[in-house]
Amino acid sequence: MSSQAPKEQSYDVIIIGGAIMGSSTAWFLTDNKDFNGKVLVVEKDPSYEFCSTTHTNSCMRQQFSAELNVRISQFAADFVKNIRSYMGNDDRVPELSVRNFGYMYLADNEDFANVLRESQQVQLDAGAGTQLMTPDEIKKNYPFYNVDDIVLGSINTVDEGFWDGTAVFDWWRRQAGERGVEYISNEVVSMTKNAAGTRVESVTLKSGETISCGQVVNASGPRASRTAGMAGIEVPVEPRKRYSWVFAAEKPLDRDLPLTIDPSGVHVRENGGGTYQCGGHSDIDPAVEYDDFTMDHSIWENHMWPIIASRIPQFEAIKVTSEWAGHYAYNVFDHNAIMGPHTEVENFIFLNGFSGHGLQQSPAMGRGTAEFLTYGEYRSLDLKPFNYERIVNNQPIIEKAII
Ligand SMILES: Cc1cc2nc3c(=O)[nH]c(=O)nc-3n(C[C@H](O)[C@H](O)[C@H](O)COP(=O)(O)OP(=O)(O)OC[C@H]3O[C@@H](n4cnc5c(N)ncnc54)[C@H](O)[C@@H]3O)c2cc1C
Repeated sequence: MSSQAPKEQSYDVIIIGGAIMGSSTAWFLTDNKDFNGKVLVVEKDPSYEFCSTTHTNSCMRQQFSAELNVRISQFAADFVKNIRSYMGNDDRVPELSVRNFGYMYLADNEDFANVLRESQQVQLDAGAGTQLMTPDEIKKNYPFYNVDDIVLGSINTVDEGFWDGTAVFDWWRRQAGERGVEYISNEVVSMTKNAAGTRVESVTLKSGETISCGQVVNASGPRASRTAGMAGIEVPVEPRKRYSWVFAAEKPLDRDLPLTIDPSGVHVRENGGGTYQCGGHSDIDPAVEYDDFTMDHSIWENHMWPIIASRIPQFEAIKVTSEWAGHYAYNVFDHNAIMGPHTEVENFIFLNGFSGHGLQQSPAMGRGTAEFLTYGEYRSLDLKPFNYERIVNNQPIIEKAII
């Protein structure tokens, strides 16, 4: 697609990347009565073919070990289930729901079982409905699992499962555009700062235009580090390949398959109509090139399928119907979101490093970032613990439930 020039020479907010995080932020800005600024979203690939948002599993869960992550997902569930009312009762917006098959974490040792027990307490305190199950209870409720090596399971079937992330993304983008946010097909290639190095003054586009900005948001997914580098700053995010397979079972299960996290790290879930979706990565998990989406079929044959067929023997007879590789924007510091302003370049706002749980975080993080851009603080949910500052201060937020 040919590049588009911006209509103005100056914007209050320039968002780099128009996928789910950029569009959530743009939409929440338009929904905030105290924000009256001009917003430009620059997206290098308006087909969104290669972004993380398009490669996602599109599931949400309440089972996190950090309370703030639970609260963030609670808002996701509320937003999804009430999307039409959040979006001004626009009757073109579809009614959505969460397909609550739950996530089933399986522990094969006491150490991980203890992590599940501790996390359950955090989740219950935050109002989630997590249940722990003994192997016998798992077998009674889900007879298809092989639980011979399992010591404990953890599942929650409230606001946990599949949701239509594509519909939410489409409607944020569409309504933001209708409310005056300017989206252009172009690429940000460089930035200039003031003499003191404390502010980004302008961004330059691949097509040559230079535009000044009040604040700039890095919503560039796996390319976060490259974008930050344009302002001379660093963010510990790299692209890591994640493979997905959809398969049809010769004999489908007689009930919904929870999104099952096998102790090996392989995960598989219900996909509807006798099909299932499975995901994982290679044992060595290097950073990859931004444009490397080549599929490695051998991982399915040698790693995924044997694990799945051993966990669910009914999956010995299956046929893969589609497969793809996508990228996590992997935060190598602590696998959590990186938000808020840079500690020195104060109008450079991060929205990065979601490491595989960003889709469900997009409502809360977009809302929070819009609040920060408007007021210089978070108002609905205090997201400060996720600010960039923690990296400088070496204060990781340990989330034990990373998939
Ligand atoms: C296989 C897989 C499964 C996943 N499953 C889940 C799940 O079940 N639940 C969940 O919550 N999350 C999941 N995720 C994570 C989730 O998809 C991401 O966290 C989320 O989509 C990140 O959105 P984003 O907008 O930050 O990044 P992206 O979707 O990657 O978008 C970044 C955008 O920025 C653009 N861009 C980059 N640089 C520039 C530039 N210089 N100029 C202009 N544009 C630029 C890119 O073209 C891209 O469109 C999964 C991810 C993968 C890969």
